[in-house]
Amino acid sequence: MKHLHKSGEEKPAASSPVRQRLIIASNNQGKIREFRKLLEPFGFDVVSMREAGFTEEIVEDGETFEENAHIKARAVFEATGLPTIADDSGLEIDFLNGAPGIYSARYAGEGASDKELCEKVLEEMHGVSRPLREARFVCSIYFIYAEDDEYSVNGTIEGYIGDEMTGDRGFGYDPIFMVDEDTSMAELDEEEKNRISHRARAFEQLARILKEKFG
Ligand code: IMP
Repeated sequence: MKHLHKSGEEKPAASSPVRQRLIIASNNQGKIREFRKLLEPFGFDVVSMREAGFTEEIVEDGETFEENAHIKARAVFEATGLPTIADDSGLEIDFLNGAPGIYSARYAGEGASDKELCEKVLEEMHGVSRPLREARFVCSIYFIYAEDDEYSVNGTIEGYIGDEMTGDRGFGYDPIFMVDEDTSMAELDEEEKNRISHRARAFEQLARILKEKFG
């Protein structure tokens, strides 16, 4: 008798742990990669919303980063029943009463470039001196593993808004966010940013939860 081999079928390795699908409530491949690196060692197969078949538009009408991360994670978890992680992040400026806040990416209008976003903030802050230029980046991550088994973490980095754009690394508001007297976030190399950023701090807390739960 002939043994048929279905090509392309993955054989589970005898020693590999049981793998479980987990959805990142995003279609941003950069984000998916970042989360995959953290989650794969705990036995999760990390996929985007699209890969999981979720194509609904999620209305992010929360008033905080945490609420928006929760709204996104809930919507995907309820539709799929699979463990889901969502995040939301952005900039809060004291002088602007917390703006751009949850509107970070749309602060200068839909489709505005990173440069336009930075320029709009610099305009609003014209003539304003410290300490009113103080600001923080926030990153909220919401993890729903199962009904009544959910976790929320927040990472922040404090800094202030510079007088002009400096540095050509990073993205978004990095060129106007000063981490110390003479360094903007856009002047940090990847390794340094990954050590001190709001995102790194939220990821550290998520890693701690994963280790306690699955490690
Ligand atoms: P998202 O949550 O990664 O989609 O970020 C939303 C928006 O917040 C981005 O488009 C940026 O404008 C801003 N933002 C969030 N995190 C950062 C950061 O690390 N550097 C610069 N801008 C950021």
